[in-house]
Amino acid sequence: MLITAVEQRRVQFSNLTENDAVVAVKHDFRFLFESFLRIAPETRIVGMVNGNTPNELFWQNEMRKELAPLEHRIEIRWYNTLSFEEILKQIADLPPHSAIFWFQMIVDGAGVAHEGDQAITRLYASANAPIFTTDQAFFGREIIGGPMHSPLELARRAGAVAMRILGGEKAGSIIDEPSTFAKPRYDWRELQRWGISAIRLPPGSEIYFREPGMWDRYRSQILLVAAIILVQAGLISGLLFQRSGRLRAEVQARQRSAELAHINRVAMAGELTATIAHELNQPLGAILTNVETAQLMVKSPAPDLREIDEILADIRRDDVRASEVIGRLRAMLKRTPLEFKDVDLNDVADEALQFLSALAGARKVDLASSVAPTLLPVKGDAIQLQQVIVNLIVNAMEAMANIPPGKRRIKVSTARDGNAAHLSVTDVGPGIPTDKLHKVFEPFFTTKSEGMGMGLSIARTIVEAHNGHLSAQSDAGRGATFRITLPLAKQPSDPTHTAS
Ligand code: ADP
Repeated sequence: MLITAVEQRRVQFSNLTENDAVVAVKHDFRFLFESFLRIAPETRIVGMVNGNTPNELFWQNEMRKELAPLEHRIEIRWYNTLSFEEILKQIADLPPHSAIFWFQMIVDGAGVAHEGDQAITRLYASANAPIFTTDQAFFGREIIGGPMHSPLELARRAGAVAMRILGGEKAGSIIDEPSTFAKPRYDWRELQRWGISAIRLPPGSEIYFREPGMWDRYRSQILLVAAIILVQAGLISGLLFQRSGRLRAEVQARQRSAELAHINRVAMAGELTATIAHELNQPLGAILTNVETAQLMVKSPAPDLREIDEILADIRRDDVRASEVIGRLRAMLKRTPLEFKDVDLNDVADEALQFLSALAGARKVDLASSVAPTLLPVKGDAIQLQQVIVNLIVNAMEAMANIPPGKRRIKVSTARDGNAAHLSVTDVGPGIPTDKLHKVFEPFFTTKSEGMGMGLSIARTIVEAHNGHLSAQSDAGRGATFRITLPLAKQPSDPTHTAS
């Protein structure tokens, strides 16, 4: 007789004859529980589902003995005396960090017999904790898995022994060692359900029923989307690179035009040196005369203090005038980056007129102005705007070199028109032929023997950097008008400006 599918402890080896062979298994409850506690170490309670027949009680007794060393770690709840209905209630109420060990359920504590797999199926439906057991027969359904007996392996061994007996070998002489648990295997769905990480599984474990992840299911779509994102990212970074290159070029261009404007101012100041020296000489000469007079008066027996006081006031006024001339020149020559501030175009025009008043006198030009009676607030760089106006006025003076001195006249006017501020410089020189009206703004266009042809080109660049416009108008033979148009800056209040 071949005895199989039995645990070795249930075999009475002394009763066997020489015609009997045994292919048994060996339960190792402690190993099984320790394996479960390894994957779910926070477990505190294990509910033992086992029936109440003598055979089931035999095993309960064996389990108690084997699991005694674990009792300090986990509380084991024995349900064998309860009806299965009551067991279902209890396992449905298990607190967190519990597990259920299924052994068997032939007859419950109330004497009710349970056939087939019905009991474990119902148990699974009510359970609020993972179920583990000794037998792979339930794997893929209700249990989470672990090291278990493999029915297939047992059948293979029993078949091998049967073949040997059929081959003539004496059954009693065949010794087949009871097999222990097979390699651990786990149900991926149950691991997920109870939040048990696959990292905790013992080495060599097999995972079954793994549901394909996003990557497995949509691999080609994910790769396609990733490729599109990569191409897009490449395009975007390319565009950003181009943009930063353009911005850098713009900054460089602005720096260059500021430098060019400065060079032009220095050249202009060079041209004006003679008149500036003349302008300085006047107050300095007056100061010297006044000082000499005051010295003489001090030496007299009865100095007239009131007159000396007047002389000192004159000296002070001339000194202020001289330092203003130097201050204006210094401002002109300053190398400054373009700096946009709130400025009044009337003030800027006024500064330029003062700067050139001495030159106008020297060249016998009548420099007149007609200033708008309102504020002309613009956002801009005062020095550069002043440079443009100075440039236009000097050009007008030079254009009238061949006009009789008494007729040389320049008019500087400012006006407000809607959202724009205008400044025009009109002379009575020969004017500009219509076909040259645009050319005068081109770099290096000049009709003067010593000219550079850069003044108007730089002037237009400056005005355009202020979002404005510089244009020329001329009736040939009847003078020329250059007009600057700038957008007005928004002002909270706009009181009427009193022209000085
Ligand atoms: P430059 O003064 O060195 O010649 P500009 O760019 O300032 O350079 O002027 C370019 C040319 O425009 C001058 O050479 C001149 O022919 C013409 N021009 C400028 N302003 C006037 C004006 N008010 N009347 C007539 N021609 C002018």
